Amino acid sequence: MQMKTATESRVIRFAAGDVPYTLKRSARRRTVALQIDSHGLTVSAPFRVSLRWIEGFMHEKSAWVLGQLDAMRCKVPDIVRWRDGMDLLFLGRQIRLAVLPWSRPITLKGNLLLVGVDDMTSGAKLERLVLAWYRRQAADHFRGRVAALAPGLDVVTPHVFLSDAQTRWGSCNGMGEIRLNWRLIQAHPEQVDYVVAHELAHLIELNHSRAFWRTVERIFPDHVRVRKALRLAARAYSRF
Ligand SMILES: [Zn+2]
Repeated sequence: MQMKTATESRVIRFAAGDVPYTLKRSARRRTVALQIDSHGLTVSAPFRVSLRWIEGFMHEKSAWVLGQLDAMRCKVPDIVRWRDGMDLLFLGRQIRLAVLPWSRPITLKGNLLLVGVDDMTSGAKLERLVLAWYRRQAADHFRGRVAALAPGLDVVTPHVFLSDAQTRWGSCNGMGEIRLNWRLIQAHPEQVDYVVAHELAHLIELNHSRAFWRTVERIFPDHVRVRKALRLAARAYSRF
């Protein structure tokens, strides 16, 4: 006799990260349904539908799933494994971590981020070194881009600070200071420029009025497309 219901805990791998979910099978169900609440993602499905089909369906809906999880503030568990050969993003390029068994300064050579550690097994040490490198690159790149774009709006080049905010890429204050999220250094250069242009425009227009967007356009005409791309990629940049 077939069970009427069965529940199991599973994990699905999306490009942006692993998402745990509860799979509920039921003899009564006719269709596959995804539901998100404060406990996370639940997938209800009939017994006869294969796991492969269910996960294919989930992949199709991944943008929705991730958006909803974000909205519910369910934190996707930390699945980052710091190890030799792991893929990283830097200014929109995929780079690879290459761990060497002796101490040396961290350097990007082509697509390899070379990092030396005396203890190859220490993921925490790798994490510390790589994140510090990201922050240094971010500070340099962001300051350069702010200095390059500020003259287009006739504003005094503001001071740039790095932020560690979980949910926003940039902010500015009345003292003419701009804060940019160091994680943005993973993004494509045009996405960085869009955020820079956005914050610079706030030095003139403090709101998001039409006048604000016209100001953004003066130094970054393609903002609609790039903003959308940044929104789609946001989760990939937030894995650390
Ligand atoms: Zn804004």
